[in-house]
Amino acid sequence: MRADGFYHDDLDGDWGPNTEKAARDYDAAAQQIRSQTRTFDARSEGCILTLSIAAQRRAREFLAKVLDGGVIARIISGTRTYAEQDALFRKGRFGNPGPRVTNARGGQSNHNFGVAWDIGIFTTAGGYLDDGPGYDKAAALGLPAGGGNVEWGGNWTTFVDRPHYQLALGLSVSQLRQRFEAGTLDLTPF
Ligand SMILES: [Zn+2]
Repeated sequence: MRADGFYHDDLDGDWGPNTEKAARDYDAAAQQIRSQTRTFDARSEGCILTLSIAAQRRAREFLAKVLDGGVIARIISGTRTYAEQDALFRKGRFGNPGPRVTNARGGQSNHNFGVAWDIGIFTTAGGYLDDGPGYDKAAALGLPAGGGNVEWGGNWTTFVDRPHYQLALGLSVSQLRQRFEAGTLDLTPF
């Protein structure tokens, strides 16, 4: 909430009146953005609501364009807590069943800061496709030329991640984490 500009006090961990107001304002902003686009499938909606307001806006604009272009996409992952990220990291490691799905521990993934989402592509019959041309089509349909305020993992060179999208903050994960934890992350320009 703080990164979206709804909360300006020190982060003291108490749920006080200013926190209450910030939470109400945040929910109102989320509903307003939804009303400006449309209501998507339940899974996409649930994932979108885990994002920062700035990312909610971009994710909704993106998904609407993809669907209008005839590609069946859903947002299947949004924000993960550090604990959820740690649980994901343990898959396929330390004797746990695999496969390994991430190299990031808690605090090491863009998904830990409210700025990233993953999509899934589905067939008309509802089958999930974990790869295929639909992922490239979705990026072409959903993002403006150059990406606008959104960065696509399909354009990454070291680790190509075609289901992945995030706000184009221009920050490394460690810079993002530092600002997120210090309460100095400002997403309002995005
Ligand atoms: Zn991702």
